[in-house]
Amino acid sequence: MKFHVMTLFPEMIEQGMNTSITGRAMAKGLLSLDTVNIRDYAGNKHGKVDDYPYGGGAGMVMQAEPVFAAHQAITEKAGHPIRTIYLTPQGETFHQKMAEELAEEEELIFLCGHYEGIDERVLEAVVTDYVSIGDYVLTGGELPAMVMMDTISRLVSGVLNNETSAQSESFQDSLLEYPQYSRPEIWRDKAVPPVLMSGHHANIEKWRREQSILRTALRRPDLLDKAELTEKEKRLLKEQLQAAGKE
Ligand code: SAM
Repeated sequence: MKFHVMTLFPEMIEQGMNTSITGRAMAKGLLSLDTVNIRDYAGNKHGKVDDYPYGGGAGMVMQAEPVFAAHQAITEKAGHPIRTIYLTPQGETFHQKMAEELAEEEELIFLCGHYEGIDERVLEAVVTDYVSIGDYVLTGGELPAMVMMDTISRLVSGVLNNETSAQSESFQDSLLEYPQYSRPEIWRDKAVPPVLMSGHHANIEKWRREQSILRTALRRPDLLDKAELTEKEKRLLKEQLQAAGKE
């Protein structure tokens, strides 16, 4: 997977992505990162890429031409069109399924805005997807781009040491992940659930699935509507919720 990031702050992206799991994946050649400084395409010796908004109002707007020139440089070098994501609070909210779909691409361009955003005309010319990471406003698109790249990277084959771990995580099958425990077996009088110490794989799987369903019902009932539960699982959940005084 090759990520191109159009930004005014390339060092922020490079530092973030060169750390931990994504950093190791880049060193192994499983991911590659190409940061493109939009300021390099300013077309003036001061590197100025923003101006006042037409019609008045607070703040500055990133101008169309430097963004367009930076985008053209990337696609001309690649020799083919590349899906281009503009990070914006006005986009569709990012979610795991979207990450899975984007992980199928070989290359992606992330366009990071700053100040009050980017001239609408260049967005119309280059953007294929408008994506938000949540209903709040950040100072720039760099953190949202890193959130997306981190999530997508975990789905690229070989990036996680344990290939199965991305498959059993939260949001898989619209369920949250079951609770996890590690050593010691007893921590401050709290014991690990005995089934996990039994070595009985079928029972462990059954317990984990039940915990996943219960946890999703308690914490994210909105997700549960999309999950596929058997009639038996539905009955068990009802009993558990009643026992917990939640129904
Ligand atoms: N004036 C814009 C608006 O009201 O929609 C917000 C501009 S914001 C201060 C500056 C830049 O940060 C945006 O161009 C975008 O790239 C990024 N940004 C801010 N919040 C974001 C979010 N929730 N998701 C994705 N990108 C965001």
